[in-house]
Amino acid sequence: MNSQKRCVIVGAGVIGQTHALEAFRAGYDVTVIERDARPLGASVRNFGTLWPIGCRTGSEREQALEGVSRWKKLAPEVGYWIDPCGSLSLAYRQEAWEVLQEFGQNHGDDSFQLMTPAEVAEGYPLANLERLKGALFSARESVVQAHSTMTAMTGFLAREGVKMSFETPAIKVHDDEVETGDGRRFAFDQLVIAAGREMRVLFPDELKAAGIFQSRLQMMRTTPLAGGQRLGAVMVGDLTLCHYPAFENCASIGALRERLHEELPEHHAHGVHVIAAQHEDGSLTLGDSHEYGHDFDPGYDSGVESLILEALGEFTRLPKFEVRKRWHGIYLKSTKGITQVVLHPRENVTMVTAMGGLGMTLSWGLARRTVQSWS
Ligand SMILES: Cc1cc2nc3c(=O)[nH]c(=O)nc-3n(C[C@H](O)[C@H](O)[C@H](O)COP(=O)(O)OP(=O)(O)OC[C@H]3O[C@@H](n4cnc5c(N)ncnc54)[C@H](O)[C@@H]3O)c2cc1C
Repeated sequence: MNSQKRCVIVGAGVIGQTHALEAFRAGYDVTVIERDARPLGASVRNFGTLWPIGCRTGSEREQALEGVSRWKKLAPEVGYWIDPCGSLSLAYRQEAWEVLQEFGQNHGDDSFQLMTPAEVAEGYPLANLERLKGALFSARESVVQAHSTMTAMTGFLAREGVKMSFETPAIKVHDDEVETGDGRRFAFDQLVIAAGREMRVLFPDELKAAGIFQSRLQMMRTTPLAGGQRLGAVMVGDLTLCHYPAFENCASIGALRERLHEELPEHHAHGVHVIAAQHEDGSLTLGDSHEYGHDFDPGYDSGVESLILEALGEFTRLPKFEVRKRWHGIYLKSTKGITQVVLHPRENVTMVTAMGGLGMTLSWGLARRTVQSWS
């Protein structure tokens, strides 16, 4: 009789796939059940930035660094592109410059480097120097191309021996089996539910009780920048400093928040902050805005796109480009400010959710911990 333990994973997004590889390498017989013919959720709609600089200092940052290191190590084996380019946070308001200086000093880590405008000019010709107060370079961030990375990971998992069952919606969880829409049942010793926003279908009450809500983001991809020009790092400006938990503990963040709120009320109303991430072909992924709730009106908002492009113009001087693709992405977030919510509706069922805008970065560390907790 085969004594190998069975792990079933619902959802082939980044959380499902990272859990699949961790479980497989820990000796489980792993089956991934995905509703669609390929991953189409948040994991293929994001910037592809691996973003320790957005994470809280301490265990969350450690987890993010673990994530970056895993993505880098796996790249040649799996066959996806990764650029360890780092990030450049550019400050145009005195308040933003104070946040960056405080953040840089608090960390005392040699992967952070405060830069003068002259140093920025030398290293980053596409950064806007007008009114620039200074910048913080952080060496730890990397970029992947989300869609092609997920496709490469899917193929890799299948080659390794993970059973990938696409076009297979899970409709019900029984004691030790998952039932799918076509009437099949997949037996498990451990079940991971990583179904993104559709988590509510399987355990709606548990999800509701955990205080999870949705955030919808508006995104775009440009044509490749002319002449093969490169940003040289993932670039962000003042608005982004107010967005990520990493900067929450800087005493100077309050003054920046207040000024931005007053100067840019429309950006504030639509939750706009801007990341510019460049891919292998020279195109940029740009975004985003944040709309919170449980349902959203359909339709892409050109007014929000203008706000994003306006904010981009504050910190970059780019050659002419066109927007080639536009889309929305949705992630789940916790009302309690928890970056990753892990629920156990039953002893051998793990629901992983609410990784907000950091799921690509944090999922490897979480997957390792989940699988370790089973032994
Ligand atoms: C616009 C945007 C930008 C972001 N940028 C970044 C970034 O730059 N860096 C970063 O670290 N993070 C980023 N994130 C966050 C990150 O993308 C998410 O945290 C992560 O993708 C969540 O992964 P997931 O596997 O839970 O979800 P998804 O990718 O949504 O995967 C869930 C999967 O479950 C499947 N599924 C659902 N229901 C069922 C069912 N009943 N049966 C079978 N399958 C089912 C779905 O089809 C889907 O494939 C961003 C998110 C968004 C939306």
